Amino acid sequence: MAFGLIVHGGAGDIEPHEHAERVAACRSAVEAALEPLRQGASAIDAVEIAVRVLESHPLLNAGYGGALNRDGVVELDALLMDGRTQRFGAVAAVQQIEHPVSLARAILERCEHHFLVGAGAERFAVEQGFGLVAPESLISPRRAARAARETEQHDTVGAVALDHAGNVAVAVSTGGLDGKLPGRVGDSPVAGAGGYADNTLGAACATGIGEGIMRALLTFRAVQSLENAESAQAAAEQAMSIFTHRFGGVGGLIMLDKQGGIGIAHNTKYLPVAFVAGDRIVARLSGQGADA
Ligand code: ASP
Repeated sequence: MAFGLIVHGGAGDIEPHEHAERVAACRSAVEAALEPLRQGASAIDAVEIAVRVLESHPLLNAGYGGALNRDGVVELDALLMDGRTQRFGAVAAVQQIEHPVSLARAILERCEHHFLVGAGAERFAVEQGFGLVAPESLISPRRAARAARETEQHDTVGAVALDHAGNVAVAVSTGGLDGKLPGRVGDSPVAGAGGYADNTLGAACATGIGEGIMRALLTFRAVQSLENAESAQAAAEQAMSIFTHRFGGVGGLIMLDKQGGIGIAHNTKYLPVAFVAGDRIVARLSGQGADA
């Protein structure tokens, strides 16, 4: 069975001096997850490994370096969804978790509920053996400097994988939007909005302004489009077109169908991506519009 892996580093109007570094971050995430996936690791393992790499990158809006809310605090959200069982683990508005994607996985695998937020999520994390970090330790100097500026940048991270057993999974992690109200939660941890996985069709991961993505249920829509679309790319474009024209949304998405076919679409200027293509890793800045 073929396997597949694609990651993104957030849709937006990325400043030229950051292009190469964002693309390199995406490449590193694929590099970290590729060998385990090749050796038989699950799609869930692969997306968690890839997203942990992206969460550690100071340039990206997830984990360390996440966006600051209006109080100057990093509040993080994440989702991990398993296409085999269609169960998910989600976490939102946590301030002391270095790798929210791993907490989302712990919720998926070890919690009677699917979605935990704030202090309750952090309490569950401690019970599961996670260490808490000081909230200030998640603030990167770059993010603190940027908080004062208005930018069209949505640098949430995400990964979609297909493993040898034919299972798909998606993981998403974000600090949300710069200057958001404390307690605001966007699309990223919401199944069907920020990410969605269904073994019978494929899986997708979104980035952009979460309010529109939630209204459009963008990733559910994209995965459902695989039912009739002739390729993953066509399904991604179809969902993106409805998102843009009917919902006035801003953002992008990456996806895999159940054969490993790739879809990339966005209505932002750029979307840094990396994916596996045969024996190679392709890493690039997808330009304006849809791009396979
Ligand atoms: N989708 C994220 C949110 O609205 C932001 C992003 O993609 O960077 O929280």
